[in-house]
Amino acid sequence: MTADTHYHLLVPTYSNDFNTCFYCGCISAAHDYAPPKQYFEFYVATREPSEFLQVPSCLECHEHLKACKAGTLEERRKFANDKLAKKYAKALTIYDMWTEDELAGLDFSLRHSIEAGLKLGAETTERLSYPGFAFEAAGVQHNLAEQAPSCFDVFGEQFTHFREALDFASKAYRIPKNALKEAFADNDNNFEQAIQAVHKAVAAKEFSQQLKQQCSDFAKKHKQAVIFVHKQVERYLSENEEMTISEALMHLFETRIKPQSRPG
Ligand SMILES: [Zn+2]
Repeated sequence: MTADTHYHLLVPTYSNDFNTCFYCGCISAAHDYAPPKQYFEFYVATREPSEFLQVPSCLECHEHLKACKAGTLEERRKFANDKLAKKYAKALTIYDMWTEDELAGLDFSLRHSIEAGLKLGAETTERLSYPGFAFEAAGVQHNLAEQAPSCFDVFGEQFTHFREALDFASKAYRIPKNALKEAFADNDNNFEQAIQAVHKAVAAKEFSQQLKQQCSDFAKKHKQAVIFVHKQVERYLSENEEMTISEALMHLFETRIKPQSRPG
């Protein structure tokens, strides 16, 4: 049994999808096999999920997919996308971080390289969101699954593109894009949680600076060891959530430091 005769050619239903890479939408110049020919017997024997399709693909996806053993279109698309995203990670970052109107003030060579990154990043983003096309294989029609458009919500404002949402959120909530993007990834890909997490972290940092400063001033003024003051204040604050730093210092003064006045 030769593998070749057992693959069905994936044929676009509509003529404007001819010569198009099924995975990324670029011009196709090769064929990908799902599953790869060298695993054909394995897939037949094990009945692992596979579609036995010969798939139009561009040279780049074709090259990337040489390392992919998966048998289904969706697995192979995911694999090809991951490779693309990795290869163009730098351009994708530039595309997320910069907007055209920020380029004006840059010197020529930097502007030139950011512009190139923006262009490549935009192209790659488009390739990564390419949904494939309706096709026929072995006489069966496969329609394109209806995909919900992606949507990014920032406290009620809706965006279809991540970079627009990031740009808006960064300006509106005064968080640098880099930090916000990282927080977004660390908080379930959710802008609201990310913004809250960043603000909380900023507040915590400010609080700890305040605490340090005030404790050290207090220690100097009352000739106490800083570490003693710091520890006491932290203890009071942990015992009473309502208490402020200055209240805690006052309490410390009243209970431990103030000279006991004796009558007479
Ligand atoms: Zn491709």
